[in-house]
Amino acid sequence: MPADWSRTVDVERLADVGEVREFDLPFAEMPRLGAELATVEGVVRCRVSFTRERKFPVADIEVHARLPLRCQRCLQPVPLEVDERSRVWLVSEPAAADRLEAGIEPVLAPEGRIALRDLVEEELLLAVPLVPRHENEADCGRTASTEADVTQTPFAGLGELLKRGRS
Ligand SMILES: [Zn+2]
Repeated sequence: MPADWSRTVDVERLADVGEVREFDLPFAEMPRLGAELATVEGVVRCRVSFTRERKFPVADIEVHARLPLRCQRCLQPVPLEVDERSRVWLVSEPAAADRLEAGIEPVLAPEGRIALRDLVEEELLLAVPLVPRHENEADCGRTASTEADVTQTPFAGLGELLKRGRS
């Protein structure tokens, strides 16, 4: 049975009843986010609540996670604490977004339906920097020597590539 967050919900109905959903969402369930991570092990703590603002359905999204991003310099994990809270308009068609005022992001909910997972993934992707990397270059690659062999694989692979490139 699919968990609650992967099914689409009726945003008009949930806005009417002021629904609040709290759940832990595994990173592995978010493919676009997963592509940015060094490992998909872990969960994001989520709270999504629905209400109305000027008659339109809105969602308040709260996410708490420690994302193991992949450093673009050394390919090792670089943790990012995410503690975000935001409000989005839920619009059923792109044209509807033009009628709303600026300041709140519109999110497309086709036919008034959206999966909670998509709301959460979007929120997390906004928090991910364009080029994640260790702030201090001295931290780069440090985990490679102290952790298990698996984390060294990117280096081993890189070495092979360099060797091949030379011959
Ligand atoms: Zn690094």
